[in-house]
Amino acid sequence: MKHILMLATGGTIASRETGQGLAPAITSREILGYVPAIGELCRVETIQLMNLDSSNLGPSHWLRMARAIEEHYDRYDGFVVTHGTDTMAYTAAALSYLIQFSPKPIVLTGSQKSICLENTDARMNLYNAFLYAAAEGSRGVSLVFDGKVILGTRARKERTKSFNAFSSVDYPEIGVIRDGRLIRYLPALDAKESPDFYHTLEDRVLLLTLIPGMGTEALAALEDSYQAVILQSFGVGGLPGGGSGPFAQAVERWLQAGKTIVMLTQVPYEGSDMAVYQVGYQVKEKYRLLEGYNMTLEAAVTKLMWVLGRTRDPEQVEALFYRPVQWDIIR
Ligand code: ASP
Repeated sequence: MKHILMLATGGTIASRETGQGLAPAITSREILGYVPAIGELCRVETIQLMNLDSSNLGPSHWLRMARAIEEHYDRYDGFVVTHGTDTMAYTAAALSYLIQFSPKPIVLTGSQKSICLENTDARMNLYNAFLYAAAEGSRGVSLVFDGKVILGTRARKERTKSFNAFSSVDYPEIGVIRDGRLIRYLPALDAKESPDFYHTLEDRVLLLTLIPGMGTEALAALEDSYQAVILQSFGVGGLPGGGSGPFAQAVERWLQAGKTIVMLTQVPYEGSDMAVYQVGYQVKEKYRLLEGYNMTLEAAVTKLMWVLGRTRDPEQVEALFYRPVQWDIIR
C-alpha cells in the first residue's frame, strides 16, 4: 500500500462559520476523519502546515510547502496538499517550479464547501486527490478538483461558486476520475530519480492590466519598487503606441534599470502572438522583453518569481523563462 503525506494549509475545505464569515478551523486529522474510505486507498499521515484562508498565502508559504515536501520526500510515495481554492492555482504553479521532475505525485485539492457540511464537494475532492496520489504512474505537480486532473502549471480558478471551479487552460486535462476510476488522457510527465528542489523566489513582481486609454504613470511610479512587471495587454499582444510613444519609453526605462518585462494577454484563452500586429511587432523588435504566449497568469507570475530567484542576468532570465516546465509554455 502506498504511503501518502497530507499537508493541510487551510481554505474552505477546513472552514467553519465564525459569525464573521467562514475561516479555517478544522484540523488536518479532523479532515481525514470525514473520509474514512481513503484508508482503503493508501496509508496516510498528515501534518498541519498552517490553517489559513488562501487569500493570506504568498511566496513565503509556497517556500514552506516545498520545504516540507522536500524534508519528507524520501519517506512517502506521494503528497496531497489541501488548500483554499482562491489562490490554489498560484500555489500549484509555484510548486511546479520549486519542485521539478518529481517522480512522485504532489496533488493539490480543496473545495467550494466545507468538509463539515452534508452537501459538500470536499469529501469527493479529497478522496479523488488521494486516489490520484496513490495511483501507479502519477508524477509531478497537479491539481485534482471536481473529477479533473489538471497540471499545476495549467490550472485556473474560473468559477467562484460552482463545484466545477477549475479549468485546464490551453492544455488538456491530464486525466479524469469517474466513479472512483482514474482515466489518464496523457502519458506521465518527465521525471528524474530525485527531483530538483529550489529555495528562493523573488516576490517583487508586479502585474499591470492595461485598459484602453491608460497612461504610463503607474508604470513609472512603481519602477523602484519592483524587479519585474507583467504587462497584461490586449488580444494577441501589443502596446498603445507600438514601438514609439510613452509606453515604449517606460518599457525602455524599466529595461535599462536591469528589470524584466513580460507581455501577457488579458484574453483568457489561446495566448499571445506579438508578431501579428504592428503595435506588438515593433515592441518585440526593439526591446528585449519576454512574451508569455499561452502561459496562464498564475504560471507566468510564479515562473518569473522562480527565475528571478535564480538569476538577474537578462540572457539567463530569457533562457529560463522560455524553458518549458510541465508544459507551462507552448510557443
Ligand atoms: N477563501 C477560501 C480560500 O481560498 C475559498 C476556498 O477555499 O474555496 O481559502
